[in-house]
Amino acid sequence: MPVASIPLADGRTIPQLGFGVFKVPPGQTEEVTAQALLAGYRHVDTAARYENEAGVGAAVRASGLEREDLFITTKLQPDDMARTQVPRAFARSLEELGLEYVDLFLVHWATPSQGRYVEAWEALIELQEQGRVRSIGVCNHPRPQLEEIVEATGVVPVIHQIELHPYFQQHDLRALHAELGIVTESWGPLGQGKQGLLEDDTLVRIAREHDATSAQVVLAWHLAEGLVALPKSVTPSRIVENLAATELELTEQDLAAIRALDRPDGRGGADPAER
Ligand code: NAD
Repeated sequence: MPVASIPLADGRTIPQLGFGVFKVPPGQTEEVTAQALLAGYRHVDTAARYENEAGVGAAVRASGLEREDLFITTKLQPDDMARTQVPRAFARSLEELGLEYVDLFLVHWATPSQGRYVEAWEALIELQEQGRVRSIGVCNHPRPQLEEIVEATGVVPVIHQIELHPYFQQHDLRALHAELGIVTESWGPLGQGKQGLLEDDTLVRIAREHDATSAQVVLAWHLAEGLVALPKSVTPSRIVENLAATELELTEQDLAAIRALDRPDGRGGADPAER
């Protein structure tokens, strides 16, 4: 089954399952991304901070796929959030990627301690007005900072990329996203291999009942919840396995059981409020 695309508030669409390349070594990124594209992924999520944009771009250019059929995201790193610095950082990312445009440019972290999230967002709005990037959004913005950038500019990010998985379901931010028309993207959708998420009894049971893997169950849950999920793997069989989650249909009962796995202490990564 092909990956569904979901609408963004700016009139564009985004493939609901994307391939994440966080921690993929630069020297391996072209090969791994090429495998993902061959398997059928059409959406790749990288970042300046990952230092592997060049590998993603090389795989895209060598793929023979139409650029219009691909959705490529990169991100502005916290060091580059000063307003005058943003266009330079964006140009550097495009150059690394070797692409004419990116589909989505995101502010990587709000980093409230730097106090630059409003000016960074204003700079992204300008880049979009100049036609240099198709869609703009943010990652890792706590509720107050997300509300502040919207209030300051009147422009709502089309995407908010946040840590999200069955142990950390982010209901508060998702309710705000629903109010504002923001699509939620899940980073660390498989729990980043932490907290034993994929060995969870409930997930293992559901997986057995569907003759699937627990990773596929988790990804099918993200899709059923209307989230965009960005699983990462460098293992060819898992790259294929994760994409095949689009074929798995969970029951209402399965979904309810997974919703019940949410934990108050389920955050596995850094807290965006503390950076
Ligand atoms: P993830 O939840 O995708 O977990 C990846 C790990 O899960 C792999 O390294 C592997 O150990 C394991 N795994 C993958 N497929 C598996 C399978 N089928 N069976 C068993 N184990 C499997 O974590 P992630 O890479 O941190 O997040 C995904 C993507 O989200 C990243 O690659 C990146 O693109 C994005 N991301 C963004 C931010 C941000 O701050 N915006 C932060 C982290 C990640």
